[in-house]
Amino acid sequence: MLYEINEKIIRLEREGREIIKFNLGDPDQQTPVEIIEAAFEAMKKGKTKYASAAGEARLREALAEIHGVNADNIVITPGSKWAVFAAMYLLLNKGDNVVIPSPHWTAYDLVAKSLGVNVKLIKTRFESNWEVDVEDLKGLINGRTRLIILNNPNNPTSKVMNEKVVEKIVNVANERGIKVLSDEVYADISFVKTKSLIEYEGEHIVVRSFSKTFAMTGWRIGYAITDKALADKIIKLNQITFTNVPVFIQEAALKALELRHQIVKAMRECYQKRADLANKILSDTKLKFTKPEAPFYVFPKSNGLNSEMFALRLLDKGVAVVPGTSFGDYIEHFRISLTAPDNEIELGLKVIAEAFK
Ligand code: PLP
Repeated sequence: MLYEINEKIIRLEREGREIIKFNLGDPDQQTPVEIIEAAFEAMKKGKTKYASAAGEARLREALAEIHGVNADNIVITPGSKWAVFAAMYLLLNKGDNVVIPSPHWTAYDLVAKSLGVNVKLIKTRFESNWEVDVEDLKGLINGRTRLIILNNPNNPTSKVMNEKVVEKIVNVANERGIKVLSDEVYADISFVKTKSLIEYEGEHIVVRSFSKTFAMTGWRIGYAITDKALADKIIKLNQITFTNVPVFIQEAALKALELRHQIVKAMRECYQKRADLANKILSDTKLKFTKPEAPFYVFPKSNGLNSEMFALRLLDKGVAVVPGTSFGDYIEHFRISLTAPDNEIELGLKVIAEAFK
Protein backbone atom coordinates (compact mmCIF):
# COMPACT_ATOMS: atom_id res chain seq x y z
CA MET A 1 0.00 0.00 0.00
CA LEU A 2 2.82 2.41 0.89
CA TYR A 3 4.31 1.62 -2.49
CA GLU A 4 1.04 2.60 -4.20
CA ILE A 5 0.88 5.85 -2.26
CA ASN A 6 4.49 6.74 -3.03
CA GLU A 7 3.97 5.97 -6.71
CA LYS A 8 0.90 8.21 -6.76
CA ILE A 9 2.82 11.04 -5.03
CA ILE A 10 5.56 10.78 -7.65
CA ARG A 11 3.02 10.79 -10.50
CA LEU A 12 1.09 13.79 -9.11
CA GLU A 13 4.30 15.75 -8.51
CA ARG A 14 5.45 14.98 -12.03
CA GLU A 15 2.16 16.46 -13.22
CA GLY A 16 3.07 19.64 -11.34
CA ARG A 17 0.81 19.11 -8.29
CA GLU A 18 2.08 20.17 -4.88
CA ILE A 19 1.61 17.54 -2.20
CA ILE A 20 1.64 18.26 1.53
CA LYS A 21 3.61 15.32 2.86
CA PHE A 22 2.18 14.13 6.16
CA ASN A 23 3.42 10.64 5.32
CA LEU A 24 7.08 10.86 6.37
CA GLY A 25 8.74 10.39 9.75
CA ASP A 26 11.53 12.69 8.67
CA PRO A 27 11.69 16.18 10.22
CA ASP A 28 11.42 19.11 7.80
CA GLN A 29 14.00 21.08 9.86
CA GLN A 30 17.60 21.40 8.79
CA THR A 31 20.30 19.89 10.99
CA PRO A 32 21.54 22.79 13.20
CA VAL A 33 24.46 24.52 11.47
CA GLU A 34 26.85 24.06 14.45
CA ILE A 35 26.49 20.29 14.03
CA ILE A 36 27.23 20.50 10.31
CA GLU A 37 30.29 22.68 11.01
CA ALA A 38 31.58 20.21 13.62
CA ALA A 39 31.49 17.43 11.01
CA PHE A 40 33.29 19.61 8.48
CA GLU A 41 35.98 20.64 10.99
CA ALA A 42 36.53 16.98 11.93
CA MET A 43 36.89 16.02 8.27
CA LYS A 44 39.44 18.78 7.73
CA LYS A 45 41.39 17.47 10.73
CA GLY A 46 41.68 14.09 9.05
CA LYS A 47 39.01 12.23 11.01
CA THR A 48 38.19 10.27 7.91
CA LYS A 49 39.83 6.93 8.75
CA TYR A 50 38.69 3.54 9.96
CA ALA A 51 37.96 3.61 13.68
CA SER A 52 36.54 1.69 16.63
CA ALA A 53 33.54 -0.56 15.93
CA ALA A 54 32.20 0.36 19.38
CA GLY A 55 32.21 4.07 18.65
CA GLU A 56 34.54 6.87 19.77
CA ALA A 57 35.41 6.76 23.48
CA ARG A 58 34.50 10.42 24.00
CA LEU A 59 31.03 9.97 22.53
CA ARG A 60 30.39 6.75 24.46
CA GLU A 61 31.54 8.44 27.67
CA ALA A 62 29.33 11.49 27.07
CA LEU A 63 26.30 9.26 26.43
CA ALA A 64 27.16 7.08 29.43
CA GLU A 65 27.15 10.15 31.64
CA ILE A 66 23.78 11.32 30.29
CA HIS A 67 22.17 7.91 30.85
CA GLY A 68 23.92 7.04 34.12
CA VAL A 69 25.63 3.90 32.77
CA ASN A 70 29.22 2.89 31.94
CA ALA A 71 30.78 3.62 28.54
CA ASP A 72 31.08 -0.17 28.09
CA ASN A 73 27.29 -0.33 27.96
CA ILE A 74 27.05 2.00 24.95
CA VAL A 75 27.54 0.98 21.31
CA ILE A 76 27.36 3.57 18.53
CA THR A 77 25.41 2.35 15.50
CA PRO A 78 24.39 3.71 12.09
CA GLY A 79 20.97 4.83 13.28
CA SER A 80 18.86 3.10 15.90
CA LYS A 81 17.51 0.89 13.14
CA TRP A 82 20.80 -0.98 13.03
CA ALA A 83 20.77 -1.29 16.82
CA VAL A 84 17.28 -2.86 16.59
CA PHE A 85 18.43 -5.20 13.84
CA ALA A 86 21.64 -6.16 15.66
CA ALA A 87 19.83 -6.95 18.92
CA MET A 88 17.20 -9.04 17.14
CA TYR A 89 19.81 -10.82 15.01
CA LEU A 90 21.91 -11.67 18.06
CA LEU A 91 19.11 -12.64 20.43
CA LEU A 92 16.71 -14.54 18.19
CA ASN A 93 16.89 -17.86 16.41
CA LYS A 94 14.67 -19.27 13.69
CA GLY A 95 11.39 -20.47 15.23
CA ASP A 96 11.64 -18.17 18.29
CA ASN A 97 8.86 -15.77 19.20
CA VAL A 98 8.94 -12.03 19.71
CA VAL A 99 6.04 -10.17 21.35
CA ILE A 100 5.28 -6.63 20.17
CA PRO A 101 2.48 -4.25 21.16
CA SER A 102 0.66 -2.98 18.08
CA PRO A 103 0.23 -0.49 16.38
CA HIS A 104 3.93 -0.80 15.68
CA TRP A 105 6.76 0.36 13.46
CA THR A 106 6.93 -2.20 10.66
CA ALA A 107 10.71 -2.64 10.77
CA TYR A 108 10.39 -4.93 13.84
CA ASP A 109 8.06 -7.19 11.93
CA LEU A 110 10.19 -7.22 8.80
CA VAL A 111 13.40 -8.00 10.68
CA ALA A 112 11.68 -10.80 12.61
CA LYS A 113 10.35 -12.32 9.39
CA SER A 114 13.76 -12.10 7.73
CA LEU A 115 15.16 -14.14 10.64
CA GLY A 116 12.37 -16.74 10.52
CA VAL A 117 11.08 -15.49 13.89
CA ASN A 118 7.35 -15.53 14.73
CA VAL A 119 5.75 -12.22 15.67
CA LYS A 120 2.99 -12.17 18.29
CA LEU A 121 1.19 -8.84 18.29
CA ILE A 122 -0.65 -7.47 21.32
CA LYS A 123 -3.45 -5.35 19.95
CA THR A 124 -3.81 -2.05 21.83
CA ARG A 125 -6.76 0.24 21.22
CA PHE A 126 -7.60 3.90 21.06
CA GLU A 127 -10.60 3.14 23.31
CA SER A 128 -8.25 1.89 26.07
CA ASN A 129 -5.85 4.81 25.66
CA TRP A 130 -3.45 2.53 23.76
CA GLU A 131 -2.51 0.78 27.00
CA VAL A 132 -0.89 -2.66 26.83
CA ASP A 133 -2.95 -5.31 28.62
CA VAL A 134 -0.33 -7.28 30.57
CA GLU A 135 -2.63 -10.32 30.73
CA ASP A 136 -2.78 -10.29 26.90
CA LEU A 137 1.00 -10.14 26.88
CA LYS A 138 1.31 -13.09 29.26
CA GLY A 139 -1.07 -15.08 27.06
CA LEU A 140 1.24 -14.61 24.07
CA ILE A 141 4.40 -15.74 25.83
CA ASN A 142 5.49 -19.34 25.40
CA GLY A 143 8.68 -21.39 25.74
CA ARG A 144 10.11 -19.92 22.53
CA THR A 145 9.59 -16.27 23.48
CA ARG A 146 12.98 -14.56 23.66
CA LEU A 147 12.17 -10.88 23.25
CA ILE A 148 9.50 -8.24 23.90
CA ILE A 149 9.82 -5.03 21.87
CA LEU A 150 8.39 -1.80 23.28
CA ASN A 151 8.32 1.49 21.42
CA ASN A 152 8.10 4.30 23.94
CA PRO A 153 6.90 6.90 22.90
CA ASN A 154 5.08 5.03 20.16
CA ASN A 155 5.10 5.51 16.42
CA PRO A 156 2.28 5.97 15.23
CA THR A 157 0.20 6.89 18.34
CA SER A 158 2.65 9.32 20.02
CA LYS A 159 1.64 7.80 23.37
CA VAL A 160 4.09 7.50 26.23
CA MET A 161 3.71 4.20 28.08
CA ASN A 162 2.29 4.13 31.57
CA GLU A 163 5.24 3.52 33.94
CA LYS A 164 3.31 0.96 36.01
CA VAL A 165 2.51 -1.03 32.87
CA VAL A 166 6.18 -0.97 31.81
CA GLU A 167 7.14 -2.15 35.29
CA LYS A 168 4.70 -5.07 35.07
CA ILE A 169 6.01 -6.02 31.62
CA VAL A 170 9.60 -5.89 32.84
CA ASN A 171 8.68 -8.04 35.86
CA VAL A 172 7.06 -10.66 33.60
CA ALA A 173 10.15 -10.60 31.34
CA ASN A 174 12.58 -10.88 34.28
CA GLU A 175 10.65 -13.80 35.81
CA ARG A 176 10.75 -15.69 32.53
CA GLY A 177 14.26 -14.81 31.38
CA ILE A 178 13.02 -12.78 28.40
CA LYS A 179 14.83 -9.65 27.22
CA VAL A 180 12.99 -6.40 26.57
CA LEU A 181 14.09 -4.04 23.80
CA SER A 182 12.83 -0.50 24.30
CA ASP A 183 12.96 1.69 21.21
CA GLU A 184 13.06 5.22 22.61
CA VAL A 185 13.93 7.29 19.55
CA TYR A 186 11.22 9.88 20.33
CA ALA A 187 11.90 10.04 24.09
CA ASP A 188 14.31 13.01 24.12
CA ILE A 189 11.73 15.31 22.57
CA SER A 190 8.54 13.91 24.13
CA PHE A 191 6.13 16.42 25.65
CA VAL A 192 5.63 14.40 28.83
CA LYS A 193 8.29 12.64 30.87
CA THR A 194 9.25 9.28 29.38
CA LYS A 195 10.91 6.97 31.87
CA SER A 196 13.61 5.00 30.07
CA LEU A 197 13.81 1.23 30.36
CA ILE A 198 17.33 1.79 31.74
CA GLU A 199 15.69 2.85 34.99
CA TYR A 200 13.94 -0.51 35.49
CA GLU A 201 15.32 -3.77 36.90
CA GLY A 202 17.08 -6.32 34.70
CA GLU A 203 19.48 -6.57 31.77
CA HIS A 204 17.63 -5.24 28.76
CA ILE A 205 18.28 -3.13 25.65
CA VAL A 206 17.47 0.48 24.94
CA VAL A 207 17.92 2.02 21.52
CA ARG A 208 18.19 5.76 21.03
CA SER A 209 18.98 8.01 18.11
CA PHE A 210 20.25 11.41 17.01
CA SER A 211 17.87 11.25 14.02
CA LYS A 212 14.69 12.78 15.39
CA THR A 213 16.10 14.76 18.33
CA PHE A 214 18.59 16.75 16.25
CA ALA A 215 17.02 16.51 12.76
CA MET A 216 19.85 14.19 11.71
CA THR A 217 17.96 11.35 10.02
CA GLY A 218 20.30 11.13 7.03
CA TRP A 219 23.49 11.20 9.10
CA ARG A 220 22.79 7.68 10.36
CA ILE A 221 23.81 7.72 13.96
CA GLY A 222 22.14 6.13 16.96
CA TYR A 223 23.17 3.84 19.80
CA ALA A 224 22.29 0.87 21.93
CA ILE A 225 22.51 0.82 25.70
CA THR A 226 22.74 -2.69 27.09
CA ASP A 227 24.67 -5.10 29.31
CA LYS A 228 28.34 -5.54 28.48
CA ALA A 229 27.94 -9.08 27.14
CA LEU A 230 25.38 -8.06 24.50
CA ALA A 231 27.21 -4.77 23.82
CA ASP A 232 30.37 -6.76 23.01
CA LYS A 233 28.43 -8.97 20.60
CA ILE A 234 26.98 -5.93 18.83
CA ILE A 235 30.49 -4.46 18.56
CA LYS A 236 31.71 -7.70 16.91
CA LEU A 237 28.78 -7.58 14.48
CA ASN A 238 29.61 -3.94 13.68
CA GLN A 239 33.21 -4.97 13.04
CA ILE A 240 32.30 -7.60 10.45
CA THR A 241 29.69 -5.45 8.71
CA PHE A 242 30.04 -1.66 8.44
CA THR A 243 33.23 -1.37 10.62
CA ASN A 244 32.40 1.97 12.27
CA VAL A 245 30.12 4.99 12.09
CA PRO A 246 32.33 7.68 10.43
CA VAL A 247 34.28 9.56 13.07
CA PHE A 248 33.33 12.96 11.64
CA ILE A 249 29.68 12.02 12.15
CA GLN A 250 30.44 11.03 15.72
CA GLU A 251 32.15 14.41 16.20
CA ALA A 252 28.98 16.07 14.92
CA ALA A 253 26.99 13.98 17.40
CA LEU A 254 29.27 15.18 20.21
CA LYS A 255 28.51 18.76 19.21
CA ALA A 256 24.80 17.90 19.22
CA LEU A 257 25.13 16.63 22.79
CA GLU A 258 27.01 19.75 23.80
CA LEU A 259 24.12 21.91 22.50
CA ARG A 260 21.40 19.47 23.46
CA HIS A 261 19.56 21.59 26.01
CA GLN A 262 18.91 24.46 23.61
CA ILE A 263 18.25 22.23 20.56
CA VAL A 264 15.89 19.87 22.38
CA LYS A 265 13.97 22.82 23.83
CA ALA A 266 13.50 24.39 20.39
CA MET A 267 12.51 21.08 18.75
CA ARG A 268 10.04 20.24 21.49
CA GLU A 269 8.45 23.67 21.31
CA CYS A 270 8.10 23.44 17.54
CA TYR A 271 6.43 20.01 17.64
CA GLN A 272 4.27 20.88 20.64
CA LYS A 273 2.91 23.87 18.70
CA ARG A 274 2.13 21.65 15.72
CA ALA A 275 0.50 19.02 17.93
CA ASP A 276 -1.64 21.71 19.60
CA LEU A 277 -2.74 22.97 16.19
CA ALA A 278 -3.63 19.43 15.08
CA ASN A 279 -5.58 18.94 18.31
CA LYS A 280 -7.51 22.12 17.74
CA ILE A 281 -8.34 21.52 14.07
CA LEU A 282 -9.13 17.79 14.34
CA SER A 283 -11.15 18.14 17.56
CA ASP A 284 -13.75 19.96 15.50
CA THR A 285 -14.40 16.84 13.41
CA LYS A 286 -15.80 13.34 13.83
CA LEU A 287 -12.28 11.94 14.16
CA LYS A 288 -11.28 10.31 17.43
CA PHE A 289 -7.68 10.44 18.58
CA THR A 290 -5.50 10.62 21.67
CA LYS A 291 -3.61 13.84 22.24
CA PRO A 292 0.01 13.41 21.12
CA GLU A 293 2.42 13.10 24.06
CA ALA A 294 5.45 13.16 21.76
CA PRO A 295 6.43 14.19 18.23
CA PHE A 296 5.49 13.83 15.43
CA TYR A 297 2.41 11.73 14.87
CA VAL A 298 -1.36 11.80 15.26
CA PHE A 299 -3.22 8.54 14.65
CA PRO A 300 -6.91 9.38 14.26
CA LYS A 301 -9.76 6.92 13.88
CA SER A 302 -13.04 7.19 12.04
CA ASN A 303 -15.52 4.37 12.56
CA GLY A 304 -15.99 2.32 9.39
CA LEU A 305 -13.18 4.10 7.52
CA ASN A 306 -11.17 2.23 4.91
CA SER A 307 -7.98 4.21 5.43
CA GLU A 308 -6.27 2.69 2.39
CA MET A 309 -8.95 4.07 0.05
CA PHE A 310 -9.09 7.28 2.06
CA ALA A 311 -5.31 7.83 1.77
CA LEU A 312 -5.50 7.49 -2.02
CA ARG A 313 -8.51 9.85 -2.25
CA LEU A 314 -6.86 12.40 0.04
CA LEU A 315 -3.86 12.48 -2.28
CA ASP A 316 -6.12 13.82 -5.02
CA LYS A 317 -6.76 16.75 -2.67
CA GLY A 318 -3.00 17.25 -2.27
CA VAL A 319 -2.33 15.66 1.14
CA ALA A 320 -0.38 12.44 1.82
CA VAL A 321 -1.01 10.34 4.95
CA VAL A 322 -0.27 6.71 5.83
CA PRO A 323 -3.12 4.20 6.25
CA GLY A 324 -3.37 2.48 9.63
CA THR A 325 -2.83 -0.92 8.03
CA SER A 326 0.86 -0.02 7.73
CA PHE A 327 1.11 -0.37 11.53
CA GLY A 328 -0.97 -3.52 12.09
CA ASP A 329 -4.68 -4.26 12.11
CA TYR A 330 -5.85 -0.62 12.06
CA ILE A 331 -7.87 -0.04 8.89
CA GLU A 332 -10.02 2.64 10.59
CA HIS A 333 -6.97 4.73 11.50
CA PHE A 334 -4.48 6.77 9.53
CA ARG A 335 -1.21 8.43 10.52
CA ILE A 336 -0.56 12.13 10.13
CA SER A 337 3.09 13.09 10.49
CA LEU A 338 3.51 16.72 11.49
CA THR A 339 6.87 17.01 9.75
CA ALA A 340 5.84 19.21 6.84
CA PRO A 341 6.97 22.88 6.85
CA ASP A 342 4.95 25.07 9.27
CA ASN A 343 3.16 26.96 6.49
CA GLU A 344 1.77 23.69 5.06
CA ILE A 345 0.62 22.12 8.32
CA GLU A 346 -2.52 24.16 8.94
CA LEU A 347 -3.52 23.89 5.28
CA GLY A 348 -3.09 20.11 5.23
CA LEU A 349 -4.91 19.61 8.52
CA LYS A 350 -7.84 21.65 7.23
CA VAL A 351 -8.11 19.47 4.13
CA ILE A 352 -8.25 16.39 6.40
CA ALA A 353 -10.75 18.04 8.78
CA GLU A 354 -13.01 18.90 5.82
CA ALA A 355 -13.26 15.19 4.98
CA PHE A 356 -14.60 14.37 8.48
CA LYS A 357 -16.97 17.27 9.19
N1 PLP B 1 12.33 3.50 15.65
C1 PLP B 1 11.18 4.08 15.32
C2 PLP B 1 9.97 3.83 16.14
C3 PLP B 1 11.09 4.91 14.19
O1 PLP B 1 9.93 5.48 13.87
C4 PLP B 1 12.26 5.12 13.41
C5 PLP B 1 12.22 5.95 12.20
O2 PLP B 1 11.22 6.35 11.69
C6 PLP B 1 13.43 4.51 13.81
C7 PLP B 1 13.45 3.70 14.93
C8 PLP B 1 14.70 4.64 13.01
O3 PLP B 1 15.47 5.70 13.42
P1 PLP B 1 17.00 5.85 13.00
O4 PLP B 1 17.06 6.96 12.04
O5 PLP B 1 17.70 6.13 14.30
O6 PLP B 1 17.45 4.56 12.40
